[in-house]
This record gives sequence, structure tokens and C-alpha cells, in this order.
Amino acid sequence: MNPSHPSEVVGIHQKATLELANRAVESAYEYFREWGYTNPNDRVRKLLAAAHLLREHKFEFDAWLVYEAGKTWPEAEADVSEAIDFCEYYAREMLRFSGSQPTVQMPGERDEMQYLPLGVGIIIPPWNFPLAILVGMTTAALVTGNTVVIKPSSETPTVAAKFAELLLEAGFPDRSFSFLPGSGSAIGDSLVQHPKTRFIAFTGSRDVGLRINELAAKTQPGQKWIKRVIAEMGGKDAIIVDRDADLEKAVDGVVASAFGYQGQKCSACSRAIVDEHVYDDFLDRVKKKTEKLTVGPSEDPANYMGPVISDIARRTILQYIGVGSKEGKPVTGGGAASGDGYFIKPTVIADVKSDARIFQEEIFGPVLAVTKAKDFEHALELANDSQYGLTGAVFSNNAEHIREARQRFFVGNLYLNRKCTGAMVGAHPFGGFNMSGTDSKAGGPDYLLLFLQAKSIAERVA
Ligand code: NAP
Repeated sequence: MNPSHPSEVVGIHQKATLELANRAVESAYEYFREWGYTNPNDRVRKLLAAAHLLREHKFEFDAWLVYEAGKTWPEAEADVSEAIDFCEYYAREMLRFSGSQPTVQMPGERDEMQYLPLGVGIIIPPWNFPLAILVGMTTAALVTGNTVVIKPSSETPTVAAKFAELLLEAGFPDRSFSFLPGSGSAIGDSLVQHPKTRFIAFTGSRDVGLRINELAAKTQPGQKWIKRVIAEMGGKDAIIVDRDADLEKAVDGVVASAFGYQGQKCSACSRAIVDEHVYDDFLDRVKKKTEKLTVGPSEDPANYMGPVISDIARRTILQYIGVGSKEGKPVTGGGAASGDGYFIKPTVIADVKSDARIFQEEIFGPVLAVTKAKDFEHALELANDSQYGLTGAVFSNNAEHIREARQRFFVGNLYLNRKCTGAMVGAHPFGGFNMSGTDSKAGGPDYLLLFLQAKSIAERVA
């Protein structure tokens, strides 16, 4: 459905049964014997062809994201661009990992180390980057020689189906992957638990990620390996605004990070932690800037914010706004916005204490909690007071504070004097600490290794 106009149907999909889910894993297992031995250069060429096709169909994919995921055009464009970057980057990374790796040569031996694929992977993406994250996890697995079962998010299966079509067009054999739409709660457990599943690449909420991790750790009858879990999960990301920060830049950074794509990014700023010397001025400026943001159907370029993804999401976020309004002082927003879509006003709540629910829990909507800090040390303490550790930012002109933040702000992706969203493939390898995940660093030089295993071969030659 189109979350801007819920009566509009975007795609009609099937729901896989348990029987189909099992069959998908079995079939991937069968074909792995072939696909796992294909020439890596051929797989690289196919991936580059996929990048080329994505570029060719960029506006169509933009449109699917606008109509199915409620992204505005600039947000959709960023999602598709990131998907293209993942393809280009992982293709070149595969060239680095194919062939023999450098080893010390023992006298009288020929010593080598090669990377091999793992086997059958289950790919489970979220709806908020329904193209980029799906493409990143899927192509990393395929180009390294694994076969996969792709279980798209139930909110955004159409974008995923279009990418599955594109993979075929790019030359990936139909048996190298299965496209398996279905409910995560109905088929997820059996995909994860299947004894022939070798790894799971998941991006989504903390609770589902932890469940997958737990189920995957339990060995099933007939299982011959320890399953690998690559899980990237939620965030409760903070931006620290220091007393000598450039306040206008800080306000721009906080507002863009908090309300871009309606705050539905794992990297979104949901906590602004502001030095008491500039607190009132900051709040005043954030209020003014936030009140200028336009909310409405995402296909209309006049709107900065579109809808949240679903009615359930809207209800959950409104509940949090209710809770937050008692925990702190509402500054602006605070409810649904007009229209038949799932619109919510960008909401700012000030004077939030660190034990408040809206300070600790991921809301995943356009809600910003603002908290006062006594000084930079206190701000850092507050920022780290979280079970998550995904992104964070600091606005400061104090070199000593920046140095402290580099060392002690405990997040996987730290940004200095810029917003905390908008990671670029290659430049900002992405992944979180603590309950934010396994720190897999998507779009970085370590990522493909998660889909490979190394074999060392020593041959006596003299
Ligand atoms: P979600 O509810 O956890 O769902 C993610 C995926 O898991 C969906 O495909 C879902 O399928 C599937 N799923 C649900 N239950 C399952 C089960 N028991 N076994 C296997 N799979 C199951 O998360 P979401 O609402 O789609 O996404 C938002 C969350 O993702 C937020 O917490 C956000 O912070 C996080 N996120 C993290 C990153 C990162 O890089 N760290 C990036 C983006 C998003 P159904 O749709 O069918 O339920």
C-alpha cells in the first residue's frame, strides 16, 4: 500500500508457507554446489551489470520507493544511489578477495590462502531502506559465491520484487536466489533454524535480531556448522551540541537528522544533548526550523516529510509522543498531521531526563528529545547512556572536546560537525556497537569477509 494514500494498492504479493520456505532453502543448498565454484570474475561482471541496470532504471526505482515506502524524491534518490554504490563497491571488493591471498612461503612448500563462500544465506532486510539494504546484503552474499533466500519486508515487497527481476536481467541464474515474500513471524524462524542454512544477514529491529541470533545458535539435527549471524539493529542516536558550537550549523544538522524520512532511519537523531549555555537559544532555533517543515504526500515535491510507514507505526509513535509529553516539555508538533496518509507532525520535546522512555527507547518516527547537559563531559556521559551505539555526532569548535569524542563517544559511526545520517558507501563503513548490532560495517573493506571463509593450502614441493 501507499502510506501517503492507504487506499492505493502498489503491489500484490504471495505469502510463502513453511513448506515453500523449506523448499527455498533446499533448492539454494542444491545449487550452491555449482554456484560456489563459478569464476568470481563472472559473478563480478554480473554485479556490475546489475549496477548498470539500476542506473538505467533509477527513476523507476525512485518512484517505487516514493509510492511504496513513503520516501520523498530526494530520500528515494539517496536510497537508489546507495544501492548502486553497494553493487559497484562489492564488485571491486570481490576482485580483491578472489585468487590467492599473500602468505609467507615456508622453505620447500607452496603456501596459499583462498577465500571460499559459506553456503546458503537468508537475507532479511527492513522496510526503511527497502532497496539499498536489500541490495547490499544480497549482492555481498551472491558475489562471494553464496546462494540466498531473500525474505523482503512485508511493508515493501514490490521494490524488492523489482530488484529480483533486475538480478535475473543482469544474468544471475534463477537458482542462485529465491525471492520469498512472506510474514517474518510465520516463516522467519524456520528459515533461520533450517539445518542447511549457513548464515543469516539481517537488518531490522533489536528484538527480531536478538531472536534470530538466539535461534541460529541452537544446533539442529543434521546441521554441520556453526551458523553465522550478521545482524544490524536499532539505534537511539545522539547529537551533542557544545557551548562553542556553530549553533546554526548544529540546528541544521539536528533537524535534518531527526526528521529526514520522518525519523525512520536507524541513524536518525532522536536525542539532542545540548550544553546549558546554549540550550535556550538552541531550542528556540530548532522550534522555528522544525515548524517550517512541510508534511504531506511524499510524491509532492513541496513536502519535506511524507508519511510514516503504516497505521501501526503511526499509532506506536503517537503513543510515544503521549508518554514523552509527560516525561518532558512539548516544544512543537505533538500529534498527527492532516491528510488521509499516515502523517505525523515533526515533534520536539525538551527537558527530557536520561531515565525517560523517550530518551532510552527507539521510537522510529519524527520525535526528538532534547536534554540539557552541564558541560561537555556530562554531555558525553548522557550520549553514552544507551543500550544502543549506532551513530552519533558532535558539534563543537573545541579541539580538546573533539579529541575526547573521537575516543569516548561509543558508537560505530561518529560524525564531527555534521549530521549523523547519510553514510556513504566506501567513505563511512556502517554498523553499530552494543545492541545496535554486530558492527558488520556495510560498505567497508571488512564486509565481504563476513560472507567468506578462508582455506589455507600448503603443498610440499621439495
Ligand atoms: P523488523 O520488524 O525487525 O523487521 C525486519 C525484517 O525482519 C523484516 O523483513 C521482517 O519481516 C523480518 N522478521 C520479522 N520477524 C521475524 C522473525 N521472527 N524471523 C525472521 N525475520 C523476521 O524491523 P523493521 O521495522 O522492518 O525495520 C526497522 C528497524 O530496523 C529499526 O529498529 C531500525 O533501527 C532498524 N534498522 C537498522 C539498520 C542498521 O544498519 N543498523 C538499518 C535500517 C534499519 P516482516 O516484515 O514480514 O515482519
